[in-house]
Amino acid sequence: IYTLAIESSCDETSAAVLRDGRTVLSNVISSQVPIHRKFGGVVPEIASRHHIEQVVPVVDQALEDAGVRLEDIDHIGVTYGPGLVGALLVGVAAAKGLAFAAGKPLIGVNHMEGHIFANFLANPELEPPFLSLVVSGGHTMLVVVKDYETFEVLGQTRDDAAGEAFDKIARVMGYPYPGGPHIDALAAKGNPNAIEFPKALHEKGNLEFSFSGLKSAVLNYLNSAKQKGTPIVDTDVAASFQKAVLDSLVGKTREAARMTGQKVITVAGGVSANQGLQRALAQMCEEEELTFYRPGRILATDNAAMIGCRAYYMAKAGKFSKLTLNAKPSIPLGDESWRG
Ligand code: ATP
Ligand code: MG
Ligand code: FE
Repeated sequence: IYTLAIESSCDETSAAVLRDGRTVLSNVISSQVPIHRKFGGVVPEIASRHHIEQVVPVVDQALEDAGVRLEDIDHIGVTYGPGLVGALLVGVAAAKGLAFAAGKPLIGVNHMEGHIFANFLANPELEPPFLSLVVSGGHTMLVVVKDYETFEVLGQTRDDAAGEAFDKIARVMGYPYPGGPHIDALAAKGNPNAIEFPKALHEKGNLEFSFSGLKSAVLNYLNSAKQKGTPIVDTDVAASFQKAVLDSLVGKTREAARMTGQKVITVAGGVSANQGLQRALAQMCEEEELTFYRPGRILATDNAAMIGCRAYYMAKAGKFSKLTLNAKPSIPLGDESWRG
């Protein structure tokens, strides 16, 4: 079975070809990060325009790299949400056009389910059930993946996503978009106990997240240091902020594993590239005697291969979309509007 997949939910235009759902034959990613950097974040109109320019060449390149012709493709998967609506529409329109022209079945994929499924590509032996910590630019949640089609959300963020907090703090400290990797690198050289930042929703059994209070506390610290003229040590601020985020993410993942009895932990989304998070999760899993899987850097951030993996399992479950499939900017896990 050959899957062609397209991803355009944010600032990466990507296309991939997979064999039998778990072997990546190609995964072409055209990133717009350098374009958006001068604005300090993703500008939706600019993103849409670049997706329009990139989508056809990226699909052509993915087929060429895989050595597979469009005729040989069995079905076409595409991200229909969540994300920037104008960006999503470009991928959805391209996939619908290809599906119609080539007479191939269309499969609308939930981007967040794709992030979780990236772990199946990076870890060939991984099978459900498992507990997944999903941490990306727009989402933070703990999910039990019961089988390939059943997802139970245990808790999510009440306000900001983890990645959003990283990006905001980095921007205020003067580092370019996206800020997560900069904070990660600074934190590795700083003292995580230099500044005590508050932890939210810390009571036992609470699996919800909140990062807006932490974000305000870091901003207040930076402002008052500036006013008083006390020197700001970027490495210590980054390390202390990152420690507060990791304590929350890892603590709640430990709690969720204990509460549900899940023995396998996966991490998903762009923030899973964070070195400190990987170390802390690996250590927690060792203490709790859990097996830990992660996707690796390329498959952690936005890419079409993860969308192709999810599409393959949806095809196996008979979940095909009509050509009326529409882009949906905000959808929960397990959303059913892939039906079109
Ligand atoms: P979503 O998937 O929720 O729609 P998104 O697609 O924009 O959002 P991803 O591509 O999964 O998000 O991840 C991007 C985020 O990951 C950014 O916020 C970025 O700062 C963060 N990130 C990437 N690398 C690191 C790192 N090493 N440490 C912390 N954060 C990181
Ligand atoms: Mg991105
Ligand atoms: Fe994403």
